Amino acid sequence: MSAGEARFQGIPATALAEEFGTPLFVYDAEVLEDTYRRLRALLPETVDVFYSLKANPNISVCAFLGAQGAGAEVSSHTELVTALRAGVHPRDIIFLGPGKDARELAACADAGIHALVCESLEELRQLDDLVGERGAEEPFPVLLRVNPSFGSKGSGLAMGGKPRQFGIDEEEVRRAKETLAELRHVRVKGVHAYMGTRFLHHADVVHNTAGILAMAEDLAGHLGIPLETVDFGGGLGVAYFENEDDLDLDALGAGVREVVAPFTARHPHCRLIMELGRFLTADAGTYVVRARYVKQSRGEWFVVADGGTNHHMAAVGIGSFVKRNFPVTHLGRPADPAARPYTLTGPLCTPNDVVAKRVPLPEVVPGDLLGVRRSGAYGPTASPGLFLSHGFPAEVLVHRGRARLVRERDTTEDMLARQRLVGLDGEEAP
Ligand SMILES: *Cc1c(COP(=O)(O)O)cnc(C)c1O
Repeated sequence: MSAGEARFQGIPATALAEEFGTPLFVYDAEVLEDTYRRLRALLPETVDVFYSLKANPNISVCAFLGAQGAGAEVSSHTELVTALRAGVHPRDIIFLGPGKDARELAACADAGIHALVCESLEELRQLDDLVGERGAEEPFPVLLRVNPSFGSKGSGLAMGGKPRQFGIDEEEVRRAKETLAELRHVRVKGVHAYMGTRFLHHADVVHNTAGILAMAEDLAGHLGIPLETVDFGGGLGVAYFENEDDLDLDALGAGVREVVAPFTARHPHCRLIMELGRFLTADAGTYVVRARYVKQSRGEWFVVADGGTNHHMAAVGIGSFVKRNFPVTHLGRPADPAARPYTLTGPLCTPNDVVAKRVPLPEVVPGDLLGVRRSGAYGPTASPGLFLSHGFPAEVLVHRGRARLVRERDTTEDMLARQRLVGLDGEEAP
């Protein structure tokens, strides 16, 4: 253990690697808490923060954010059960997704969540039938997910104003008065819109928020639906790459307050929701890998590590032709000067398994630990963990100076347990 090595709340990286093995995701609860509190403090009180489990569905991460006060935005049966078991109150859970099935709709009704976010008029009708068949006493609360006619800018993945499989086009919602009037067992209580992800400019988020609130007001007036809840999305980004800067949170807070205040004055009982995943968890996570081999190929230095894009597909790069690198740290010698650029690769038999390209690092030797920072969102959950049957890595939450396993590493037996070996004669093999 070298004196200068990286630590997580005082725990040396080498100690974590020794106890839990590598590759490993380490989540720092102090960072989670600090991020949540900073955001909470700058938003108006009428805005609730809902955590999108899509970014990191680990149940302990969800429980930790829930304990801070976050609600949950879930999109599958398992995410719903995760949020409930993590202790998030059903009144602070919403369920959305373009292809919900009957089991998911029923589970939402059973749990009594705050609202289901409907993404098509057909889904509204089906839900109406389903709730009717179940003989529920109360009408089921839903938000209409609207695909706004105005576009967003500044997102890596713009949503509004385009053909999308998500939500109902604003133009169609506008014509849906009759459909809504036919609903017997479903109660539309507000509007939802999500404009995209990875916003790094506060003005874009403020612009979207203003646009969504105005659209919600307009649609509610036109359709005669109440505005008990408006979810205006979020999609706040974090800076991953060299040419990016983090959001100006103070300016974001001021801008959101400015557009929310007059809305709340007109709709004092309307619950506003900002839903976001990446912003709440990205900064808290580090993907820890161990260098297996350090080799040169035609002048380029490679670190071949024990984990790669099979756990961190996001590091491959998002919609960009030029490879941009997530922040990578030499965990053993974080403060040493860079020796040379290294290309960080994993154990997969594909040339695409490149976590970072030509990133300047201090001297790396086999056995050294490297950390990919800002990796708490869209890590294992958005990665091909089954590729080459390596399985998913362990995950650890460091809280109050203690590191605890929050997901076990997949073993070979885990990986094989769900497969069936059939004999060539069609019989089950012994
Ligand atoms: C993905 C998604 C989110 C979370 O996005 P982040 O960029 O991680 O905050 C929220 N809402 C919807 C509808 C989404 O599809």
